[in-house]
Amino acid sequence: MSIADNLLKYKAEIEGPTVKLVAVSKYHGADAVLEAYHAGQRVFGENIVQELVEKQAELPKDIEWHLIGHLQTNKVKYIAPFISLIESVDSLKLLIEIDKQAAKNKRIIDCLLQVYIADEDTKFGLAFDEVVDLLRDEQFSALKNIRIVGLMGIASNTKMEKQIKDEFNELKVLFDGIKASFFRKDEAFKEISMGMSADYKIAIEQGSTMVRIGSSIFGKRVIKHFKAD
Ligand SMILES: *Cc1c(COP(=O)(O)O)cnc(C)c1O
Repeated sequence: MSIADNLLKYKAEIEGPTVKLVAVSKYHGADAVLEAYHAGQRVFGENIVQELVEKQAELPKDIEWHLIGHLQTNKVKYIAPFISLIESVDSLKLLIEIDKQAAKNKRIIDCLLQVYIADEDTKFGLAFDEVVDLLRDEQFSALKNIRIVGLMGIASNTKMEKQIKDEFNELKVLFDGIKASFFRKDEAFKEISMGMSADYKIAIEQGSTMVRIGSSIFGKRVIKHFKAD
C-alpha cells in the first residue's frame, strides 16, 4: 500500500465530526508529506523543531503543523511564526515563552497541555495536580497570546489493552474535570489528543478527538535524519 492508500484508509476510518487525524511525518522526507498532502491530508505532526522548520519552509503553506514532541524554551522562536498547535506543553515556563513569541509574531498560538498518563519514566508531561496548579497560577491568567484548547497524552507502550484503556480513560476523566472547573464557557477547550498507530482504536473508544498516526501511514521510521533534542 502506498502512503496515499494508507492515508485514505485511515481518513475514512477515523475522521468524522468529532475525531481529527494528525499524520505524523517525523523522520520521513518532504516527498512523503507531499504524497499525503496530494491525497488530501492537511494536518501533520512533527516532533523535532529543526525537522519541522525545514519541512515547513519547503512545503505548501496551507499545511497545519502540530508540534508533538518535547519543546525546549530556546526553540519556541523558530516555530512561533507558523505553528498551528503545540501539543506538548509541559510547563508554565514553556507556556510563558510561547506567549512571548506569539506576541512578537502578533499571533495567538493554540496549545495542548501534555499530561503524563503512562506507567513509564520516559514520557514527558504534567502530572494531574500540576495541570491544576498551572491553570490556577496568576502568571498563567496573565498570558494573552496563547490559548489552551485541550489535553494530550501518550499511553504506555504495552500490549495490555486494559492498561491502555485505563490510561486513556484517566485522561478523559481529567479533561472533563478541567473543562468543568476552568473552561466551562470556553468552546475552544475541546480537544483530547490521544492514540497512535498501535492504540488509536482504544483511544477513540475512550473519547479521543485527535489521533496521531505515523508508522501506519508512512511506514517504519528506519533512518533518523535529525538528532533528537
Ligand atoms: C511518533 C509519535 C506518534 C506516532 O507514532 P506511530 O506509532 O508511528 O503512529 C504519535 N505521537 C507522538 C507524540 C509521537 O512522538
